[in-house]
Amino acid sequence: MDHAYLGAWMMIAIIFMIVVGTAIYFLPSVIAYSRSARNFLAIFLLNLFLGWSLVGWLGSLIWALVDDKKEPAPAPFFPAPAPPTLTSAPAPIAYCPQCGQSVGPADQFCSHCGHPLQQ
Ligand SMILES: [Zn+2]
Repeated sequence: MDHAYLGAWMMIAIIFMIVVGTAIYFLPSVIAYSRSARNFLAIFLLNLFLGWSLVGWLGSLIWALVDDKKEPAPAPFFPAPAPPTLTSAPAPIAYCPQCGQSVGPADQFCSHCGHPLQQ
């Protein structure tokens, strides 16, 4: 094994370590991106600037794992109230166009002035 051969393998090994090291370094960002984390940008910045420290790297990794996903939206604790149905809603109040008094919705004529009501 001559010197040039060993040097080439050293170069390949160094490049390989750089690639693998970069991949491990940005693993929290990759996880946050794949999970569509809500705070992906913050996780990425923490990973980028503090990832060289074990605490920053572990912090961004844990954050990426526990961060809420964008989709779907979290379900509300209490179920939303059902919209009122037409059958349970009170009858709409109609007013006579002649005298302004309230009349029944099914009335043909106003009970106050006898004005014919348009249905
Ligand atoms: Zn009337």
